[in-house]
Amino acid sequence: MSSSSFIALQEASVKYPTGSGAHKALSNVTLLIEPGEWVTVAGPNGSGKSTLAGVLLGTCRLTAGRMIRKVHIDIRGVLQHPEAQHIGDTPAEELAFALNDRHLSREELKQIQKQALLRVGLELSPETLLNSLSGGQKQLVNIATALATVPDVLVLDEPTAMLDPAAREQVLQVVRQAHLQGTTVVWITHRLEEAVYASRMVAFQKGEVAFDGAPETFFYGDLASDSDSKTPCERIGLDPPFVVQTALHLKQKGHGLTARPLSHDDLAKAVSGLCL
Ligand code: ADP
Ligand code: MG
Repeated sequence: MSSSSFIALQEASVKYPTGSGAHKALSNVTLLIEPGEWVTVAGPNGSGKSTLAGVLLGTCRLTAGRMIRKVHIDIRGVLQHPEAQHIGDTPAEELAFALNDRHLSREELKQIQKQALLRVGLELSPETLLNSLSGGQKQLVNIATALATVPDVLVLDEPTAMLDPAAREQVLQVVRQAHLQGTTVVWITHRLEEAVYASRMVAFQKGEVAFDGAPETFFYGDLASDSDSKTPCERIGLDPPFVVQTALHLKQKGHGLTARPLSHDDLAKAVSGLCL
């Protein structure tokens, strides 16, 4: 662990007890989370992603290896089911609970509650009943609550899984803004379209780290690898996002595409220079 790492997992393993013995959900995982990163964690169902989230958030204990966290850092989580996280009946109650230890006056708390919702684009009264909100709005309340505490690290475990495409994009953009303002992000997903803002990709397979590196390398392979060999993403059996599929297709067709785009904008720029 470098002295600046926020979190270091060293040979970390988690075994769940089962009827017939134990099931290893994480196996010898060594992983560093550095300040300012956006780490996107991908992997098939059952590959250990949620177990990793639990370990990082302190709700799941390691059965071997160790985790070193920088002292005094605050790590907050947002989980897949928006409702699973609610403690109160309204955003105001959620925020009051999260900020409980800040000893704020009534007025200060009211101000922060309003600002926290506006920050994620929610123009609603903090007293609105949570069960009257859509899934996307509930998830934005959860993110607003997590961000109101100004965490050093935000761990999101498939935060868009229960949302429609518009709400998914909104949640992604809100987290992007927080990241641009300095929050370190661990974004867990099996939807690789959501990896556009990743500074690093970590992929899990059967509880082990199968890839840890640059998103471009994950999706397009090493610069040295030829266009017929499988990319790390393909080897792990995950579907590359549309942008990557299109770029790989153009490369295979011999269109001389040298860029390795991750976003629609990058793909458009790369293609505009080609004579198709
Ligand atoms: P993912 O989030 O990638 O789908 P999980 O971390 O939820 O993966 O699960 C990893 C493995 O551990 C899976 O095989 C899953 O069935 C198993 N598992 C998860 N939670 C438990 C549990 N509480 N008890 C027993 N096995 C579990
Ligand atoms: Mg999961």
